[in-house]
Amino acid sequence: MREPLDQLGTHEVFNQPGPVPEQNLFECDPCLRKAVDREGARWATSKLAELGEIMGRPSTLQLANDANRHSPELESFDRFGRRIDEVVYHPAYHCLMDLAISREIHSIAWTADSGGHVAHTALEYLFAQVEGGVCCPVTMTYAAVPTLKQAPDLAREWLPRLFANCYDSRFIPAGEKRGATLGMAMTEKQGGSDLRTNSTVAQHLEGDWYGLRGHKWFCSAPMSDAFLSLARIGDDLSCFLVPRWRPDGHRNPFFVRRLKNKLGNRSNASAEIEYDDTWGHLVGPPGRGIATIMDMVKHTRLDTCLAPVALMRQSLVQALHHVRHRQAFGKTLVDQPLMRTVLADLSLELEGAVNLLFRVARSFDEAAAQADGEPFSRLAAGIAKFHLNKVAPGFVCEAMEVLGGSGYVEESLLPRLYREAPLNGIWEGSGNVICLDVLRTALRYPESLDRFFAEVSVATGENRHLDRSISALKQRWQEGRKTPQALEPEARRLTEAMASTWQGALMCRFGDSAVADAFCASRLGEGRHRTYGTSARSADVAKILNSVNPGE
Ligand SMILES: Cc1cc2nc3c(=O)[nH]c(=O)nc-3n(C[C@H](O)[C@H](O)[C@H](O)COP(=O)(O)OP(=O)(O)OC[C@H]3O[C@@H](n4cnc5c(N)ncnc54)[C@H](O)[C@@H]3O)c2cc1C
Repeated sequence: MREPLDQLGTHEVFNQPGPVPEQNLFECDPCLRKAVDREGARWATSKLAELGEIMGRPSTLQLANDANRHSPELESFDRFGRRIDEVVYHPAYHCLMDLAISREIHSIAWTADSGGHVAHTALEYLFAQVEGGVCCPVTMTYAAVPTLKQAPDLAREWLPRLFANCYDSRFIPAGEKRGATLGMAMTEKQGGSDLRTNSTVAQHLEGDWYGLRGHKWFCSAPMSDAFLSLARIGDDLSCFLVPRWRPDGHRNPFFVRRLKNKLGNRSNASAEIEYDDTWGHLVGPPGRGIATIMDMVKHTRLDTCLAPVALMRQSLVQALHHVRHRQAFGKTLVDQPLMRTVLADLSLELEGAVNLLFRVARSFDEAAAQADGEPFSRLAAGIAKFHLNKVAPGFVCEAMEVLGGSGYVEESLLPRLYREAPLNGIWEGSGNVICLDVLRTALRYPESLDRFFAEVSVATGENRHLDRSISALKQRWQEGRKTPQALEPEARRLTEAMASTWQGALMCRFGDSAVADAFCASRLGEGRHRTYGTSARSADVAKILNSVNPGE
């Protein structure tokens, strides 16, 4: 007779929490639901609930685990010795791509009447809680749209392929496919942040087509159908769309030298590539390549804000499940006073992060509707990208520790979340570069800074720590504007302070008052926290926990 699963020969298996039960990741997330309503995408609720249900299924998690365990492989040649430069993915990757694209994550921002960026952010936030690698090509396809629109003939040809919401994994010319995805290849060996060092050259061929020669040190999702890329016409950098197939139906020379062996993000391929007589179609005005491609980068930056928050959310879900079903020293862990302080602190961090993320997403919708909204959304994305990505790795690490030893073991999911956590702080502008961009935006477009202060000042009088923080920031900016160079070494301090202050203001305006007070005391107060679980002493822990994750 078979022994019961929890009754082994030598011992009984007990006090093990088991996996997080199937749940709807949207329905179970009150902070997300409130933020989506508040920031203008209530109309997307049923879409979000549908995706939330799918992302919460064990079968979807299994796909994500498979896609990460079986990393993509480069096939340089076919069996007859012909060069093919193709990357082969596990079937699970294709299933996940199909899921993301069919749910319009990449297109909804551009096809919705209003609130499209908030809806996009919420959809991808649900997806990224389970799998981050697929989000890379999805994000690049979403973000490429405004840059593509700078070449109207290309936009006419490519946008219908993107907006078909159909994933077609076949490696054939894009015109023959049911749908297409786009990538981006900017970074070269000698400089990624400083794009002015790009050395790839472009020689005119015919019409708007050029022949490119050079290399790119990072090119993720190399099986995308085309890539926005930079190359020099003469001395100046221009932007090009490089398809994997030439208009005459032949393969475009696109040499994939190798795939990077990365810390995480294993389901996604990131390649080193070379161009040699590679066809590229000019996008935007010649010589304005950086400005043209920056329209894309601005939008990828929004997604680098959502990814860390998604990792935080999923790691907290795992941690809360564990403590609710695990006993130690005579109590369920969730009832141990010190554990509760840690969990409350993590929950505060998450609620602040979600509020900031969705406010920033709305600034993208505002920028689409009002011509003068652009600088504010750029400032907003910079503030959030820096702060949220600095917080995420420590947060996930703390959540991992909540699971004890099991958290360090691969099956718990926490290691995969942890490996993913530093990435979004690096690509699309690493920390320093982002903080310097926050400075540059605030100084070049003072109205963006004025708007920031107008926004946080709405909460003035709600909390003394917040009031103090707003006036200290105002004073520093007023002084700093007189000697901008002196601000550069302080760029991180200013950006971080702006993020925490903005989070405090949002918590005061839209959160429970006890929760908002705990946030402001611990993030903006004199004895501000460094390690999770060292603050929120007087806070109403039960309220905080319930506000983020009501009982399963
Ligand atoms: C997994 C992965 C996938 C990627 N995929 C792509 C892709 O698909 N397409 C693509 O184009 N790129 C891609 N990248 C590249 C990525 O965008 C760059 O690595 C990133 O922009 C940083 O550039 P860099 O590596 O050249 O570092 P550097 O530019 O050398 O920067 C190194 C450090 O110096 C700091 N720094 C730079 N300038 C200053 C300054 N003025 N003051 C102070 N500090 C400064 C930076 O913040 C950074 O911390 C990918 C990267 C990774 C890790």
